[in-house]
Amino acid sequence: MAQRLTVSDGVSKKTSRVRVAVRLRPYMSRQDEKDEGPCVRGLDSQNLEIINWRNATETVKYHFDVFHGEQTTQQEVFLSSVKPILPHILNGQNASVFAYGPTGAGKTHTMLGTAEEPGVIPRAVREVFNLVNAKDEDEGWDYSIGMSYLEIYNEKVLDLLSPNSQDLPIRENKDKNILIPGLTHTVISSFSDFDKHFIPATLNRTTASTKLNQRSSRSHAILLIKVVRTQRALPHRQQTGKLYLVDLAGSEDNRRTGNQGIRLKESGAINLSLFTLSKVVDALNSGTAARIPYRDSKLTRLLQDSLGGSAHSVMITNIAPEYRYYFDTFSALNFAAKSKLIVNKPFTRETVAVPVLPVKRSREEHEATGSGA
Ligand code: ADP
Ligand code: MG
Repeated sequence: MAQRLTVSDGVSKKTSRVRVAVRLRPYMSRQDEKDEGPCVRGLDSQNLEIINWRNATETVKYHFDVFHGEQTTQQEVFLSSVKPILPHILNGQNASVFAYGPTGAGKTHTMLGTAEEPGVIPRAVREVFNLVNAKDEDEGWDYSIGMSYLEIYNEKVLDLLSPNSQDLPIRENKDKNILIPGLTHTVISSFSDFDKHFIPATLNRTTASTKLNQRSSRSHAILLIKVVRTQRALPHRQQTGKLYLVDLAGSEDNRRTGNQGIRLKESGAINLSLFTLSKVVDALNSGTAARIPYRDSKLTRLLQDSLGGSAHSVMITNIAPEYRYYFDTFSALNFAAKSKLIVNKPFTRETVAVPVLPVKRSREEHEATGSGA
């Protein structure tokens, strides 16, 4: 049955789709607030429910590929959502992991983490080095790993490894690979080599954020890990695999928080990118759209070869349990529930010929359903 095609684990032969995980962070009460308890809670490893604002005696239930509850460790998130896709980038395929959700819900904790509880980024980079080092010499390929680190802020693409860079252009080559000419690409030989470049760039960004009205919550931070492998023997075939690790801007609706001036302009630009992301996701889900609007924002243009069609993608939607996040949580869940219908067709960059399969799906199984209580 056609439905089967979409219920793959991302390694099926014909199709691959964006896996959607939702992570609920622990409840953090504030002194200035009466303790109302959580408005959202997990049901099991795939389902959660949120109070229905139209009728507080009801909840709305959502089903996802994975639900990570408050107790979930950084290691568990990595093992279930990220580690399985990493081998593909050693074979010339692309992958992306992105953290979505309102500011304060745990995106940076998930992606970056802390020294004590490292997140997806340090764990993934370590794993890529482990995978490359474990490769058998006899297979006849030489591997090279490189990194770029950039930020999209106000629809400008800025190189975080070259602090004075100007807005960089995004281009597509004849093989439909997305490139950013002029972006710093640094070859890294070990995890500590990675850290040496990544930590100062991250610290710069964090420091700037406190001065510039939480810039880090208003920009998309994108780490690119590129694995190039070259065959030792003639004809020296070469394959490039890309891994994007993305800490998205906050998904909250800034119109409700009364932003003014520069903040409002920022909000507009952020909304354009995230709004376009949701349109792209919808177009991919429907499977029939003549045109997927990747070009309508910098974020989706950049993610074009990593989201829908050619890549192994995981979206981790971060949500917070407190009532003050209620509407942002609702909209984040609705965004995530749509995305899980994306169908990806994995292919190896070297051989571009991919059979296009018509995939028909029914939505109803995936739609959120209100439940009477
Ligand atoms: P965002 O990047 O989405 O704005 P953060 O990652 O900065 O959110 O998280 C907000 C706060 O919540 C931080 O203090 C962070 O340490 C804490 N936090 C987020 N997720 C978790 C978690 N799973 N466990 C413990 N603390 C968390
Ligand atoms: Mg953050």
